[in-house]
Amino acid sequence: MKLSSHISKTIFIISFVSISLAFIISLVFQYSSYKRDSEHIQNVFMEIKKENIKREVLRVHDFIDKKQEEIQNKLKQRLKERVLIAHKIALSIYEENKDIKSEEEIKYLIVTTLKNLSYKNKNSYIFANSNDSKPILFNKKSKLNDKIKTSEFKKSIYDAIAKRQSTLALEKDSGYILNDFIKPDTDDKTLYKKLSFIKLFKPYNWHIGTGEYVDTLTQQTKNELLDWIATVRFGQNGYIFVNDLKKQSLIFDGKKLSPPAKHTRPDLYQLQLDAIKPESDGFMLYKFKKINTKISYSKISYVKEYKKWGWIIGTGLYLDDMDKELARKEGVLKDAINNQITTIFLIILLLTIIIYYISKKISQYMDKNIYHLINSFKYASSNSEEIDTKELTYQEFEVLGKSLNKTLKARNKSEAKLQDYIKIVNENVIISTTDKRGIITSVSEAFCEISGYTKEELIGKSHNIVRQKDTPKELYKQMWNCIQNGKSWVGEIKNRNKEGGEYWVEAIIQPIFNKQDISGYTAIRHDITDKKKVEYLSITDELTNLYNRRFFNQKIEEEINRAKREDYYLSFIMLDIDYFKKYNDTYGHQAGDNALTKVAKELALHNHRASDFVFRLGGEEFGILFLYKDKESSLEFANFLRTCIEKLEIEHKQNSASKYVTVSMGLVVRKGKDIIDSDDLYKLADEALYKAKESGRNTTYIM
Ligand code: GH3
Ligand code: MG
Ligand code: MG
Repeated sequence: MKLSSHISKTIFIISFVSISLAFIISLVFQYSSYKRDSEHIQNVFMEIKKENIKREVLRVHDFIDKKQEEIQNKLKQRLKERVLIAHKIALSIYEENKDIKSEEEIKYLIVTTLKNLSYKNKNSYIFANSNDSKPILFNKKSKLNDKIKTSEFKKSIYDAIAKRQSTLALEKDSGYILNDFIKPDTDDKTLYKKLSFIKLFKPYNWHIGTGEYVDTLTQQTKNELLDWIATVRFGQNGYIFVNDLKKQSLIFDGKKLSPPAKHTRPDLYQLQLDAIKPESDGFMLYKFKKINTKISYSKISYVKEYKKWGWIIGTGLYLDDMDKELARKEGVLKDAINNQITTIFLIILLLTIIIYYISKKISQYMDKNIYHLINSFKYASSNSEEIDTKELTYQEFEVLGKSLNKTLKARNKSEAKLQDYIKIVNENVIISTTDKRGIITSVSEAFCEISGYTKEELIGKSHNIVRQKDTPKELYKQMWNCIQNGKSWVGEIKNRNKEGGEYWVEAIIQPIFNKQDISGYTAIRHDITDKKKVEYLSITDELTNLYNRRFFNQKIEEEINRAKREDYYLSFIMLDIDYFKKYNDTYGHQAGDNALTKVAKELALHNHRASDFVFRLGGEEFGILFLYKDKESSLEFANFLRTCIEKLEIEHKQNSASKYVTVSMGLVVRKGKDIIDSDDLYKLADEALYKAKESGRNTTYIM
């Protein structure tokens, strides 16, 4: 993955994830806040509604209370006014007549006048009693002279009431009194509450009073109030219901029941009884049908007892109204939240796009820089040219570029040095590499120069191309043996150039390893042709091109040592041209030299084995070192050489042994261990040669 796309992807993913997280968190908060708000609204709403219905009930309750009190006050006022008027009348009758009329007459006048005072309510009349509890005026009937003809029951009640009133009159002059009293002119024995006002009438020690039955008035008031309560409406479906403690509905379903009917829902009635208990808060939850419908809905109601009348006053609220209202409010809230979410979502979308765009831009910007860096590096590495670090935007890249430049500078320097060395090596060191079969894979300039071939002519050819045919096969065998075993080989090799000329090199051949296997060979050589030339000259006889005496002295020691080491026969021939002095004398010195050369050539011709060495020991005297398995074959070889020389047929008239040039040979054949030293060997050969000369020349004497 590319660094820039990795970074831009990372930026984008991190941003996207954080924005998404923010969005989710915001959603969660929105939702929980919505939940909280919703619950809060519900509670508040419920509280408000509860408060509303409670207020309505309390309003009605208070109104009844007020109304009731008002009626009571009016009644009291009315009673008092009537009694005061009656008292005034009685008193004025008394005052006007006290001096002119008898007590009896005046009493009569007063009673008659008071008896005729009439009121709307037929049960309302002025009464008078003497303060010793005797009736004077009762139920519009004068009792002045009558004995009360009434039942014992009525009389006892009357007496008791009269006594209480007398006491009040005597003690307080006037006042209200609430009595339980029968209704006159009826057979009803029920006692009804009757409120009376009485006043002392001093002249005759009477008390005058009037009263009204409270129940009638209360009933009236109740009816009026029920009429009114039935009309009370509030909110959408709000109405007041009224029941009494006798399980009767007075106002049901928003309608006044006349007469009151038994409550149709004992369960609800029981709930109401529970709710009005002092320990209850007055609220009750139940299901009830809505006004003018038949479907039941959840309803919460508040009830309060109007204790004076034993009424249960209540009103309720259908919760579906509240639910509707709540749903409406929730809808508004939801819309608000949805709007918020949409806005947040749009913002997030916009942010995401912006972040995507920015991360893309960053990625492109980085790409540009990285590409520039990479290209600069590529260019720098392929052309070894320094980077223009000013073009690099990031500081880090600049540092990188600078350090690359530093490295490049150092590399270029050492590269140049190396190239110089390579050039020197290439021009001066004869190097070649081959594969493991000896096929040339590379060569140095120096190799081309010394071999006379071009690179193209050499590469792909076998290394045999420069092999000198005379070089013993043993040498190559030994060399291959060594390098194929992974060892280095060092040695001198005579090579052949393109023109057929020879050159000598000292070579170090090393195997090239690929892991453990040999993949080819490298050979480093140096030209030793000149050294070899000097060496050759120092050991070669100028005239005959054979090895000289000096080399003989060196070689004989080596060969003796070898023979001793390996214990085989070493053969040494000392040979001398017969009567050569005479030859020179006969044919001239030049002819003598020519003859010497011919003999030498013939000897060299037959001694071409690696173990054969032919020397010119001096003058016309030669030495041959060679190896044969025994004396016989050595002698045979010596005689073969001798006859070969004769067969050259170089005319030599003065030679008594032949008409041609001949040689005499002293041959010594000794096993290595039997050789004392070179001097001894030489001496023996010399003796043998002497013997050969002695015995007539052109012969071989073996010792
Ligand atoms: P023999 O050995 O048979 O006993 O007789 P000879 O004549 O060969 O004996 P001697 O060894 O005394 O003579 C050697 C002669 O070889 C002397 C010299 O004139 C001649 N000689 C030596 N070296 C050279 C040379 O380099 N060139 C020529 N032309 N002659 C040489
Ligand atoms: Mg001689
Ligand atoms: Mg001689």
